[in-house]
Amino acid sequence: MQYNMENDTIAAIATALSPSGISIVRISGPEAVSVASRVFQGASLAACESHTVHYGHIVNPADGRVIDEVMVLLLKAPRTYTREDTVEIDCHGGVLVTKRVLEAVLAAGARLAEPGEFTRRAYLNGRIDLSQAEAVAGVISAKNELALKNSIRQLSGREREEISAIRAELLREIAQIEATLDDPEHLSFEGFDEVITRQTEAQAKRIQKLLDTADDGRKITEGIRTVIVGRPNAGKSSLMNLLLGEDRAIVTDIAGTTRDTLTEEVRMRGITLLLVDTAGIRETTDTVERIGVTRAQRAASEADLILYVADSSAPLDDNDRAILAACAGKPLIALLNKSDLPGMTTAAELREAVRAAAGDGFAAGTDEPIAISAKTGEGLAHLEERITGMFFADRIRLDEECIITSERHKQALSAAADSLARVQESIAAGMSEDFYTIDLTAAYESLGSILGEEPDEDVINAIFAEFCMGK
Ligand code: GDP
Repeated sequence: MQYNMENDTIAAIATALSPSGISIVRISGPEAVSVASRVFQGASLAACESHTVHYGHIVNPADGRVIDEVMVLLLKAPRTYTREDTVEIDCHGGVLVTKRVLEAVLAAGARLAEPGEFTRRAYLNGRIDLSQAEAVAGVISAKNELALKNSIRQLSGREREEISAIRAELLREIAQIEATLDDPEHLSFEGFDEVITRQTEAQAKRIQKLLDTADDGRKITEGIRTVIVGRPNAGKSSLMNLLLGEDRAIVTDIAGTTRDTLTEEVRMRGITLLLVDTAGIRETTDTVERIGVTRAQRAASEADLILYVADSSAPLDDNDRAILAACAGKPLIALLNKSDLPGMTTAAELREAVRAAAGDGFAAGTDEPIAISAKTGEGLAHLEERITGMFFADRIRLDEECIITSERHKQALSAAADSLARVQESIAAGMSEDFYTIDLTAAYESLGSILGEEPDEDVINAIFAEFCMGK
């Protein structure tokens, strides 16, 4: 995407294009006030105080005909989202009328903004850093409470603070080395290696701590990849429907007819599950079925969580045990389904089967079965509680922690960690000091790329292209 990098005046519809109470047309740039004045009949905007609201009409600049009755927000630089003069026109929320207002504004001299261009200007004008710009996109796209909270924290600059603090330490190290290299008469490298090693280790630890949060970050923003397994007719499709809250998967009485792998999103208690339904993990000779099983095995290997469904109205069999064995080593919740029917399998028996199949493979505390009925919904609250507790409730305190949710940030942190590891290697290999600064500088720059300090035009374009119009 090609941005016009000149400081021109841009405009776009900032709200969704569907009938609603009001829509907002936003104008930003040095000519924002004069463009607005050309289409606004009401107070003389240029003469008004900043951060005031004005009642009036939008007219077509060509023929003076009234398009809509509006309220106009006048926001003069620099206390605005873009740090430029900004005018927001609140018009009636019809699709046609909003488009007419935008057309009038464009006819009056504004250029149609690219997606994300307002936020891009906020970044280019130094109001926010790149990680905060990404957080704006994160707030807009957040699909659960945790993701939203985390984006708001990132927007407030929590991640920037930590990254900047690490960079400041690295810069101090670089400066120390450079100063000593420049002035060997007065400064000496005596004992220097230990100091550098200690300092580098401390910063590498901080970077690793951030990297360690990336897996949680993915689960928060994308969802916990969850696979439902169990032998045919145990109630997998029924459970999926129960979780989805509607009849989406195909449920049938004939064993083994849920053939395709479907992925659906379920929101529960502020988190998201990415639910994969499968044909069940078992040996089969049926070709179509085998494809389903292969997918199930692959899905289970990639899953964050396995929901294993057993049929409590029948005894456990070898198929159950084989499926459990295939899931060993993964966080698993065992469900004793059909609790509304007379029981043939007890919780104790299922617990034993899970333990026997898994050895020490299952995460501690995840092997206590939960009785549910996919038919009546009994036990669902208990399951939701277990899932949220297992993943986030006890471990993640968003108020204190900085959690990495962006793949771009994760890669930059990894690159910085690699550079610092090379510094340690150079020291261990007895290389001369100027080698240290090369890698320290590389780490410093990698971290800087998170904040957009060493801007790479392609990366920046890719980030802002993700935005919606008018943001
Ligand atoms: P799948 O093969 O594991 O996907 O099993 P299904 O979800 O297709 O369910 C198989 C059969 O068991 C269907 O007739 C369901 O209506 C029934 N079923 C599933 N869950 C329950 C439950 O909790 N209670 C009762 N009574 N029947 C259930």
